[in-house]
Amino acid sequence: MASRFDLDEAALAVLLSGEPAYRVGQLRRGLLEGREPDQLTDLPKALRARLSGEPALVPGLQLVHEAAADDGATVRWLWELGPAGVGGSRPRVETVLMHYPERTTVCISSQAGCAMGCTFCATGQLGFERHLSTGEIVEQVVRARVVAAASGRRLGNVVFMGMGEPLANLDRVWAAVHVLHDDLGISARHLTISTVGVVPGIQRLTTADLPVNLAVSLHAATDELRNELVPLGRRYPLAVLVGACARYVEATGRRLSLEWALIDGTNDTPRQADALAGIARTLRAHVNLIPLNPTPGYPANGSQPAAVRAFCDRLIQLGVNATVRRNRGTDIDAACGQLRASMTGSPVQLGRR
Ligand code: SAH
Ligand code: SF4
Repeated sequence: MASRFDLDEAALAVLLSGEPAYRVGQLRRGLLEGREPDQLTDLPKALRARLSGEPALVPGLQLVHEAAADDGATVRWLWELGPAGVGGSRPRVETVLMHYPERTTVCISSQAGCAMGCTFCATGQLGFERHLSTGEIVEQVVRARVVAAASGRRLGNVVFMGMGEPLANLDRVWAAVHVLHDDLGISARHLTISTVGVVPGIQRLTTADLPVNLAVSLHAATDELRNELVPLGRRYPLAVLVGACARYVEATGRRLSLEWALIDGTNDTPRQADALAGIARTLRAHVNLIPLNPTPGYPANGSQPAAVRAFCDRLIQLGVNATVRRNRGTDIDAACGQLRASMTGSPVQLGRR
């Protein structure tokens, strides 16, 4: 679905034919700063008016709902993707902005829904709807950056941990990574792609032209349990996945992180901790633990705080670098896909930003 940030310089030049060549850069920079065409005061008034009505420059995201939590430190947006399908409802995705004392991070979506079907994940429970375009991915960051700047914060970090599997949409994701890096000036080490373990995608990142961070959502350290939680495990067993990760680390010299949602009585056992420690040590990876956010389609709870602590301590005793991540915005359903899952019914139209 083409929208304003899907237009490259050649496409903008066509829109601006008859204008001096430098207008292309002015328009592109202005849009990337989050301004509307009619706010681009460095363009002549008549041109601004023409561009405002230009269908190719429509935004790709329509705001459906905005929610704030953690005293405003977390802001979450639910967007509708346009334009509407004939007779059908538009797919929805979400974006989360998180202010920390030392940095500001946005968590963005790469697909509407997800085909990977992880049993505990609200997005997986929805199934796959469609890939996001490069422009729709970029627009999430542009809009979050404007909101961050309005509260005096510079948006410096982007994580692909919203809805969808970025390595299943890698061509568009990688084009977006280049815009974020080349045009918005976000450095590669402040860009993180999270994957459930799409091995061909990890292989592509191993030789990619920007050294972004890679996070691998492991959740289980034995194939038997992983296959239950993450269906993709049947296609890429742990030995194959860990092998691809090892080659990635060796070739890029980058640190890898392993994500682990702690599920009460399921993957928070000493046996899983020991097996995870073996993998993490082999990869010299950092382990991020987060208690599972309960979802409607999966009858389990996050591990109790004492179990989270014990699991983390056991990893540390085994020589692993492990930390517990705080769950941001649980009061606004801020886990992956959950705002959307809780927002059924007609959208609350708050207008465009
Ligand atoms: N598809 C990619 C990125 C999006 S999911 C991936 O799976 O890595 C982002 C992160 O949220 C992943 O680590 C995923 O495992 C985690 N996650 C999904 N559902 C969750 C839940 N209910 N509670 C806690 N973490 C969850
Ligand atoms: Fe998709 Fe990631 Fe959710 Fe699995 S955890 S279903 S890969 S979004």
